[in-house]
Amino acid sequence: MNWVSDWVPNKHLDAEMNMDTNAPCYLTAINWDGEEPFLQFRVHGDDASQSVSANELDLRFRVAVDWERQCIGTIDRSKDGSTSVQCDSPAVSARQCERCQTKDNIAAAQMHQAHRRGRDAIGKAMVAYLTHPHRLYVAIFRDGATKVGTTRGLSGGNRLVEQGAWYARYLAQVDDGFFVRELEDSVTEKLGIGQAIDTRKKFAGHLQPLPNQELEKRLTQLAKETEKFLTKEIGAKGTLLDDQWSNPRIEDHAWINLVSYPTVINQGAHEFAIKSMVGRLAACNKTGFVENFLVDFQPLLAHPLQTGDFEIDEFVMQDSLF
Ligand SMILES: [Zn+2]
Repeated sequence: MNWVSDWVPNKHLDAEMNMDTNAPCYLTAINWDGEEPFLQFRVHGDDASQSVSANELDLRFRVAVDWERQCIGTIDRSKDGSTSVQCDSPAVSARQCERCQTKDNIAAAQMHQAHRRGRDAIGKAMVAYLTHPHRLYVAIFRDGATKVGTTRGLSGGNRLVEQGAWYARYLAQVDDGFFVRELEDSVTEKLGIGQAIDTRKKFAGHLQPLPNQELEKRLTQLAKETEKFLTKEIGAKGTLLDDQWSNPRIEDHAWINLVSYPTVINQGAHEFAIKSMVGRLAACNKTGFVENFLVDFQPLLAHPLQTGDFEIDEFVMQDSLF
């Protein structure tokens, strides 16, 4: 599959046009649906964006130097869950305009402090979003880093694949998003389990992963301790669970012997195929190379991308590094 045909409005015209005037397209989101990754693109000036399945996707693009970066928009949360909201402004921060950035910062603060500030202190839509059953989980990443987290809804969900966890264990389900965050905070405070993992650690974990068996063993131990703690804390507001989860890619050979993509993704011209994704990281394959490359897609968000018949930047692998 080639995304070019999806986005260049008229290929015949495009061939005669100067590439610099060819309207670019922007990567506006990395989405997950049924634990499968999708890249959301939006052509400059178009009202709607389109989602393209990321698995086995051929990409050939260059980052346009004479177009501005465009804001990727924001997320609205309500009783029905979350929906993305498009924006037409140029990006001023890494990915957003000032307005969207402020809106997201407020929403994030409300969501994470809702249980401390109380229902009256946060927006009605956010209260409705949080007044819904939630689950608490512990997860382990390939470098061995662990975290405690929460997710909205009592089944399925994309939270774990979106973050790129390797194994996880759902340990409790509770009535709402307020109480689940109280529990999460006390797990962090009493057991010292953090709530976020730096992407650099996730990236490094794919290059030099711990064996799957070791990760499973460590997670089982962590789940046992956390469960013991939750038994005392959970009371009548929830019930304990013991549901195992693993990333759909744990047996995928594309995720073995990965090397770091040697150039910067949001500059220059690139050509490769995505094999599959774990969170925002993709295992990619490039003609002429035997190794699979690990590429972080987040830095590409908001940048103006063009297709066309230009030369692709070459790079040389430094064998000595690996
Ligand atoms: Zn915006």
